[in-house]
Amino acid sequence: MKRSRPRIGITATTGGSTSPNSRRYADAVAAAGGEPVWLEPADVLRDQDPGSVLARVDALLLGGGEDIDPRHYGETILPDAGVKIDAPRDTAELLIARAALAEEMPILGICRGIQTLNVAAGGSLHQDLTLLGLAPDAHVQDRRTPAWKPAHPVAVEGGSRVASQLGGPAEVNSFHHQAVKDVAPGFVVTARAPDGVIETIEHPARPFVMGVQWHPERMVDHHPGQRKLFEALVAAARHRK
Ligand code: MN
Repeated sequence: MKRSRPRIGITATTGGSTSPNSRRYADAVAAAGGEPVWLEPADVLRDQDPGSVLARVDALLLGGGEDIDPRHYGETILPDAGVKIDAPRDTAELLIARAALAEEMPILGICRGIQTLNVAAGGSLHQDLTLLGLAPDAHVQDRRTPAWKPAHPVAVEGGSRVASQLGGPAEVNSFHHQAVKDVAPGFVVTARAPDGVIETIEHPARPFVMGVQWHPERMVDHHPGQRKLFEALVAAARHRK
């Protein structure tokens, strides 16, 4: 029987699926016509079979959170990088992301999620943007301002997926101290901040595999263009199932 609402697996940290910030992912997915299915680390690791987890969903949304352990991209933690690790989540998400890539499942990575996607596919990260000479608050907006408020513009590549979704140049919020460094094989950069920091990557050969460094789920109420990211993910999931 065909389900009318495609199921979107959303990753979160242990116990994180009930947090207010996490609820925004589920709300954005539901508003776009999808059925959110939370995937905490234990849900993924229970039977050590990512295929059985992916069989329950039609697309994967890799959510935001703490930093990925640099050992997953062949580095050790740099002394001044301020890296915070969530090891169970690294294990679960890299497993599920690699399986989803192998199955050519639609994937949207958000914030930590673009980083998870890039590392899962063989790329690396800047451990801390301050080590590039950027100010500590260059991509970490003031928490006292509403999370839907843009913090910086992004220049998007013409003809890219993100360009068609956002409809041209856009402004985005920013809550990250890391970013994509070496782009994973098969992926291309499709948006950058004015300082050159990578804000989106896409896999042009796949139906829908992309990551964004900002938090569109916190912008959808005030910026309709940001809803298109979730609508495109749900459309790709519907097409697949
Ligand atoms: Mn940013």
